Order: sequence, then structure tokens, then C-alpha cells
Amino acid sequence: MTTNHELFARARQLLPGGVNSPVRAFTSVGGEPFFTARADGAYLWDVEGNRYIDYVGSWGPMIAGHNHPAVREAVERAVRDGLSFGTPCAAEVTMAETIVSLVPSVEMVRMVNSGTEATMSAIRLARGATGRSKIVKFEGCYHGHGDSFLVKAGSGALTFGVPTSPGVPKAAADLTLTLPYNDIDAARALFAEHGDDIAALIIEPVAGNMNCIPPKDGYLQALRELCTKHGALLIFDEVMTGFRVALGGAQAHYGITPDLTCFGKIIGGGMPVGAYGGRRDLMAQVAPAGPIYQAGTLSGNPVAMAAGLAMLELIQAPGFHDDLAARTVRLTDGILGAAREAGIPFSVNRVGAMFGLFFTSETVESYAQATAADVARFNRFFHGMLERGVYLAPSAFEAGFLSSAHGDAEIDATVTAARAVFATL
Ligand code: PLP
Repeated sequence: MTTNHELFARARQLLPGGVNSPVRAFTSVGGEPFFTARADGAYLWDVEGNRYIDYVGSWGPMIAGHNHPAVREAVERAVRDGLSFGTPCAAEVTMAETIVSLVPSVEMVRMVNSGTEATMSAIRLARGATGRSKIVKFEGCYHGHGDSFLVKAGSGALTFGVPTSPGVPKAAADLTLTLPYNDIDAARALFAEHGDDIAALIIEPVAGNMNCIPPKDGYLQALRELCTKHGALLIFDEVMTGFRVALGGAQAHYGITPDLTCFGKIIGGGMPVGAYGGRRDLMAQVAPAGPIYQAGTLSGNPVAMAAGLAMLELIQAPGFHDDLAARTVRLTDGILGAAREAGIPFSVNRVGAMFGLFFTSETVESYAQATAADVARFNRFFHGMLERGVYLAPSAFEAGFLSSAHGDAEIDATVTAARAVFATL
């Protein structure tokens, strides 16, 4: 039998850090990653046959659980007709109609292949449409690995303490202004100084790359007003929150209308897919309807569209999101209760089926608070849970995700494991 360790040793010879995406390498939590052989429902199995209850869900897409038969069968059907055509196909039209019907602020949409492509393209559109060059992002928010965003980014970049990557030209970074999340006074001050130069403000409406931090009451609305006042576009990066925190995403949950929205993860059903869309007058400026160029050999791929459409069908079942939110409450209340029993300073955040666990007694509302929580203790907790068959995201700065395949049995087993691990911390 191949072991996880042997595979990682081979991987490290040929893949930078042994992985194709940094946070998978366990650098933040220490130790070595496991290699997944298969996934089903709420579970992953590694190559050694160990089973884990999975709260990562492929970093968000698997909201209906792994290997859902409806998604798998849709892919199998699509594959029979060919893998890629390079011409328009009907599934792209159905996908656009589905997104537009579920997210009212999106009047037109362009499919791409990842969340990174979606955010990069949205920023180009914002700059092209406004004729301005500066963008505003938030410290600890992650929008993929485009040059403009690797400035005080979250996720892997936060984890590794390299907020600005070498290779990002200073000239590009200079055009990105950063703000503290959840601080409206700071945003007002920045716009007062730079408002005329700002093409767009991009935000994760629920921050999910510095652990999970919801917006304060009224915060997103205040940002909406600020953008409108200064002629800047408001871009919601809903790559993580889209179709997860509510059917219509965070914008439906909080009742805010952004100008542009970026999607990824769930709309691909586990295949590499992203999308950006929004106001018709803006999207009509994208090539070939307009002059702002953006393209993709595999964009709108028929197999990926089939997976995404099947997933979007599943999540439209009545009560799907309410049920997931209730399960998330059961899970996080259970873990919080176990921490309290053990006398460990702990707090949780949650929005819909997205949650954050923090080793601090404070309610976490800011990047500064998230980074001040006890990361070393989280890392011990992570490994204790893994040993007991529960896979949490391998970093203190990632949100957790539930799926509809996480039933009471999995949730209760997770809380039991947490109780045992807290006793060792
Ligand atoms: N935006 C957000 C909010 C994300 O969480 C991510 C990835 O985790 C991205 C963008 C980038 O998406 P991708 O990894 O598909 O390029």
C-alpha cells in the first residue's frame, strides 16, 4: 500500500512544497497532509484507508456532500457527448439563466475557470468602465492570486505571513489600497482622500479567508453608499459565500445590491469554474459585446456546466439553506459548549453553512482580533481532531463549511471528538 508519507515525499520532489495549492501542504498547522483516495457524502478516505468527516468540502464547492449522485450522473451524461467543444453550447445558456434568476443583481454573466479569473476580470472591467485605476480591498480578504490582490491578502498568504508576494510589481501593488475590515470610519477617510481615483471596492461580504468574520450590522450598506457617492463600483467577491450563506448569496442574506459579483466553487459543482456578472450596462462592455477584453479556451466547458447546473438544482430544494444553517448552529454550539466545559477561551462565528472557530474569549469582528487568537492552540486542536477522524481546514485562518450530507451522526461525532481534544489542550 502507498502511504501518505511516501506520496508526500514523491510529491515534494516534483511539485513546489509537494502540492498544487499552498495551504494543502499543512505548513501552517505542521505535519504532513494526507492524500485523498476517494470522497463520498460527508467523508474523505485517504490512501491508507483512514476515514475523515470533512469540514473543508474541497474548500467550499461540495455543499451537497462529496460525489453526490445527481452531480456525478450529470457529468457522466455530459462526458458521453464530448469533453470540450470550443463553440457555444446550450448548457452555458442554461447556466447564465440560472445564475441571473438566483441572483437579481446579476443581469449578465461571463463564465470563467476559477475564482481568481473571476476577480481579475471583474477588476479589469471596473477599471475599463470607470476609467480609474485604483482598487480598494480589505486586509485579510483573499480574492485569488492576481497581482492586484496579493496585497495584505488572507488565506495562504496570511498563513505564511507573506502578505505581498515577491513577483508582484510595486507598480501594481501601488494601485491597491487596503482597509481594515468592519471599520467604516477608515473606509470613509480613504474615500474622502482617494474617492475620485477608485475604480472599485472589492470585498468578501462575509470574510472567509481570515477564518470566518461576518460584516457588522449596516457595514455593507455603508460601503454601498460610499461607492455610489464616489462613483466607484462595489464588487462582491461571492466565490465562497455565493449559493452558500443563502441561495442568493451574501447579497440576498444582507439585502445589498453590488454592481458586480464574482462566483466560483459551488457553481462548478466540484469542477473548475468561476463567473463574474452584474449590471447589464457594465457587462455589455466585455468583449466581444464591448472593448474590455477577456477570454478562455475552456470557459463554459460543457462538463463543468453540467456539474454546476446539477449542483445549483440540488441547492434550490425548499429549505436547503435553512436546514444547513440549523446544522451549522448545532455543530458550532456543540463545539463551543465542549470548549466551555473544558474552560478553554473559545468563540465561534457563523453565517449560514459557513463557520469559524477561534481560540479567544472575544467575539471576533476584525482581522486584528483573528490574528490575535491562539494559533498554536488551534494547531494542536486541528491535529487532535484529525487523529480522531475529523478534518478541519489546515489553518487557523480558513472558514469551515458544512454540507447537506453532514447529518446528526457526523455532527455529534465531531462534538464528541472536540470534547476529547479540548481535554488534552
Ligand atoms: N475569492 C475568494 C473569496 C476565495 O475564497 C477564493 C479561493 O478560495 C478565490 C477568490 C479564488 O478562487 P480560486 O481558488 O478558484 O482561484
